[in-house]
Amino acid sequence: MSPDNPAINYLASAAGNTSAEKLLLQYADYLLSVIPNADFPVDLNTIAKHFNLKVYKVPLAGQRALSTPNLNIFLEQDDRETVQRYSMAHEMMEFLFHAIDEMHPGFPPELLSQLANRKEALCELGASNLLMPMQPFRAAVQKLGFSINTGKCLASECRVSLTASLRRMLDTRIKKAVLAYFKFSNSTGEFIPSAVKQSNMFGPLEYMDPPKKLRILRIFNSSYSEVGFIPKQKSVESNTSIFKCFESGGYTSGFDYLDLVSEKGTFFVESIPVSLNGEKRVLSLIFLD
Ligand SMILES: [Zn+2]
Repeated sequence: MSPDNPAINYLASAAGNTSAEKLLLQYADYLLSVIPNADFPVDLNTIAKHFNLKVYKVPLAGQRALSTPNLNIFLEQDDRETVQRYSMAHEMMEFLFHAIDEMHPGFPPELLSQLANRKEALCELGASNLLMPMQPFRAAVQKLGFSINTGKCLASECRVSLTASLRRMLDTRIKKAVLAYFKFSNSTGEFIPSAVKQSNMFGPLEYMDPPKKLRILRIFNSSYSEVGFIPKQKSVESNTSIFKCFESGGYTSGFDYLDLVSEKGTFFVESIPVSLNGEKRVLSLIFLD
């Protein structure tokens, strides 16, 4: 038992008749309350010190971070600072689960199963609320406007990755939007002759390959998922502003006709080129309303 675990005190006063989301969000608020009037970037180290959490940067062989019930947090030493901050916030949320394991609070079974089944997503949500508390974050988005540029400003102010700040912007629900990473590729189901070194009589190995398309690699919805299912691998046409961004390597915006299965129509889209492990990607903010 670790009486210092900040979540133990929190759980003692937490209401059991709540949702798993609320439990995590309020726990993040509880941690934030030790730094009143916190400004961006949120000072996680002060919170950690207050609750006697010990933080170590070590090699973790492929894992981002982990925490132990006796209040230790281990972060991958080679990760970027923004990634380490997110990992640290995530592990601070994990202490709520350590506390639940130790205390067995008399929560209703539905709440306990929600917590168990969605633990990682809930920790991500709590971590976002810790690093980008909703009230000031929402006010900043309202002031600066809902755009990729605002996402960049807030990422640097909150010292988080651009993906993290843009995902948090989705959570403000100021606009109904999704965030998508696109990659120029074949779909996984397609037969690619050149990949199995199958020759043909017309030209180089790639000659008979089906054409590559710009396809969704990852898609992010708001945590309140008011948008229907959008499958990965869905491709966009070469006349879209998304494709122009890929071709030109610069920022684009415009109205694109997109068929995203659950969402179909002409939508305003902002796109920027990004590089992931040296590979070209496009990051798009797709406005659905
Ligand atoms: Zn976790």
